[in-house]
Amino acid sequence: MKISKRAQTVPPSATLAVTSRAKELKKQGVDVIGFGAGEPDFDTPEYIKAAAIRALKEGKTKYAPASGVPELRAAIAEKLQRENSLGYTPEQIIVNIGGKHSVFEAMQAILEPGDEVILPSPYWVSYPEAIKLSGAVAKVIQTDKSNSYKITPQQLKEAITQKTAMLVINSPNNPGGFTYTPEELREIAKVLEGTDVVVLSDEIYEKLIYGQTEFVSFASLTEDAYNRTLTLNGFSKAFAMTGWRLGYTAGPVEIIKAMGRLQSHMTSNAVTFCQYAAIAALQVPADETIEKMRLEFERRGKYMAERLNSINGVECLEPTGAFYCFPDVSGQYDRTINGTKIAGSMDFAKALLEQAKVAVVPGLPFGRDENVRLSFACSMEHISKGLDRIEKWLSS
Ligand code: PMP
Ligand code: GLU
Repeated sequence: MKISKRAQTVPPSATLAVTSRAKELKKQGVDVIGFGAGEPDFDTPEYIKAAAIRALKEGKTKYAPASGVPELRAAIAEKLQRENSLGYTPEQIIVNIGGKHSVFEAMQAILEPGDEVILPSPYWVSYPEAIKLSGAVAKVIQTDKSNSYKITPQQLKEAITQKTAMLVINSPNNPGGFTYTPEELREIAKVLEGTDVVVLSDEIYEKLIYGQTEFVSFASLTEDAYNRTLTLNGFSKAFAMTGWRLGYTAGPVEIIKAMGRLQSHMTSNAVTFCQYAAIAALQVPADETIEKMRLEFERRGKYMAERLNSINGVECLEPTGAFYCFPDVSGQYDRTINGTKIAGSMDFAKALLEQAKVAVVPGLPFGRDENVRLSFACSMEHISKGLDRIEKWLSS
């Protein structure tokens, strides 16, 4: 059977693969603790579900405009103004089928063969594949643990060439669990002035920030930043709506229109009645359930990082955003555990699942083989039990 080179070079998503492997084992009766899924364990808030049911009953079951129903685009524009101090008209906003689709479509609309995309590592697993599928090349910047895995303005300066078409910024970060401060982002924005680099600012974890962390939208920093930025967001994480598949992109109208043309052929609109539910989600911004989720994530992240740091050869930054711990476990490499040599993150994750029945995502597909990712979007009990197992396994 003929399979295109394009498809042959794309591996399956490592995050989804680990999650489905853990679910499969559970189904077979194996007592697995899964730290794979980057998916809130909470259910979608009731008021959002009620709005979807209402929309269904009202017959919002037909095709809608490919770029999104006008009421949702208007509600997103309002949200971006109210919460992020960003002035976008509805024409500058497109509703996509999940944030993953936003990333893919934005890259398809902007990039072409020969372009370079600056991608700070660690990065979310789907960026390099979306870059590759656009024909562009990812120029990965390796960051330092001592700088909380963030790029420095100097590193960025050195990475920019004539071919640089885009910079991907993801803060709060998956898998790193870190967040850039407004000052750090301002310095990045300054480096970009005078270039033609478009910034893809993936803000999907904006609501999940902890401690004293401040979130600021990149496009709101300066006029120059606004003009070069695509602001990407979605409903999956903040509203526990992963299965609804709703994301959006806001930015310069020519880019949004180009994305709309692609979308009109590739997928058409995001599910119509889900878009009406999304309007309800945005109109109750200070909803208590969301703040409750955030507080619970904060408690879990702190606990998980503390427990990880108490293990020999494991170093973990306390997460300031998203719902991931990304410990450096390289202090445990080159050991043999129960007959298996642990040479890198792939071996580590595989052996941990096979021997101790704990699922984590190896760091390699996120660009850092020294680390593994543990999601804390699961109950405290689950976290505590999983960490007991990891501790025991590493001391064996
Ligand atoms: N960006 C980042 C950084 C993510 O972690 C995710 C979650 N998978 C997404 C975008 C896309 O999420 P979704 O497609 O569910 O909106
Ligand atoms: N973004 C989540 C994660 O990183 C969900 C899985 C995916 O879409 O990659 O685990």
